[in-house]
Parts: sequence; structure tokens; C-alpha cells
Amino acid sequence: MNHPRLVAFDLDDTLAPSKSPIDPRMAALLVQLLGAVEVCVISGGQFAQFTMQVIDNLAGVDDAALGRLHLMPTCGTQYYRHAAGEWEQVYAENLSDDQKQNALAAVESTARDLGYWESETWGAILEDRGSQITFSALGQAAPVAAKTQWDPDGAKKTALREAVQALLPDLEVRSGGSTSVDITRRGIDKAYGMKRLAELTGIPLGDMLFVGDRLDENGNDYPVKALGVDCIAVENWEDTARFLDQLIPTLHTDS
Ligand SMILES: [Mg+2]
Repeated sequence: MNHPRLVAFDLDDTLAPSKSPIDPRMAALLVQLLGAVEVCVISGGQFAQFTMQVIDNLAGVDDAALGRLHLMPTCGTQYYRHAAGEWEQVYAENLSDDQKQNALAAVESTARDLGYWESETWGAILEDRGSQITFSALGQAAPVAAKTQWDPDGAKKTALREAVQALLPDLEVRSGGSTSVDITRRGIDKAYGMKRLAELTGIPLGDMLFVGDRLDENGNDYPVKALGVDCIAVENWEDTARFLDQLIPTLHTDS
């Protein structure tokens, strides 16, 4: 394998179980990786999720290492870097108020029509993430087990996505996590974020490696593969840890 200059990761089910903190083993691997290359985490989630799941758990990381970490919440429509001891938002590309109102109304009415508007949830179903409106069928804080049961074959999410997309031709409606649908400006997906990352860092896409759990054609990581970036498919964070166990020594010995 060519040595990547930057390794980018999806977050949920790639670095950690959905909406959960990274394991200490993964934290240690990420700190080691930051000692060798630039690292990006790109996800449909917002910055607070990155903090809770990743940043707060990077034990023993120093400022120099954090300076090599690139955070791209909401598929890269937001970008954060660490400088002078804190995380700074470099940019955020938000939806207009009109776009937000249309998106919120369309996804709620469609979910109700299809019978997917649940009455018992863990937190809010709809969330305004600035650059993205997110529908989470069972609420933002639903446990993994409940989410897995809600839509095991993905049929509900697909039906909702297609119906909402028909109502919002100027916006993009996409599958997010296991029970979520994300609405953004058109053309915003992880490929958009990776292209922005290449512009911002000056590192060509050909020198990057992307690791994700949803590289299948309906997955939210697929646009990165379609863009032509070298991709590693994993099923869970343990797979990712095994891959990093192999990758990291090659970076240290002959890069
Ligand atoms: Mg994922």
C-alpha cells in the first residue's frame, strides 16, 4: 500500500459504536496515528458528537498531535481545527431560514403520513444542525438496540428519504445513521467534505485514505469511494482497530 499523507475516518460504527465514546484501544491508536500522519474525522453528526465521542477520550494527546487532526462535522459543511489550545470553527456553511423551515415541515409531515412518527422517543426527533436538518426516528439519544430493531432492512429509511426528496427538489435528502435521514444543501455529502479537505490542506485526494462502515452503494460513505479515494471497508470499530494495528507500523518505519 502507498503511504497515505492523511487518513480520514467516518465516526459512527467506524471509530466507535453509534453515538458512543471511542474505546481506550481506539483512542491509543488514533494518538499513535496522529504521530505519523494528518487525520480527519468526517461524519453527518455535529461538533458536540465529535467532542463527546472522540476528543474528550484522547488521553495523553499533545497540542502538536491535535494540530494534525481535522474535524468535519455535518459532512464537511463545518470545519474545525485545533490552535492555541482550543478548537476553532474555521467555517460553517448553513442552510437559510427558508430552507430549514421547508425541510422541517416536509420531513415531519412525510414521517407522520408513513406512520414513522414515533410517540416514544429518546430526545428530539428533529434537529437543526445549522448546515443540516436531521430526522432521527427514535430521537437523538436512542439506544443502539432500539435503533437496530426499528428498521433492520433499511426499508423505512429509504421510503422516507425518497418521499421527502420529492418534496424538496432544491435540497438533498440522504440516509444518515441506522434510523436517521439528513437534509442538506444539494451536493453535500462526504465526497463534498473530502474535496474541501483537499483544498484546505493542499493534500491531494490521491494521497488520502478513507475508512468507513457504509461504503456499499446505499451507504453514507459511498460518495467518497465514488470520488475515487482509496477506501478501507470495515464493519465496526474493532475492524478499524485491526486495520490501524497493521497500518501504523508501516507509517513509522518507511515514511
Ligand atoms: Mg458510519
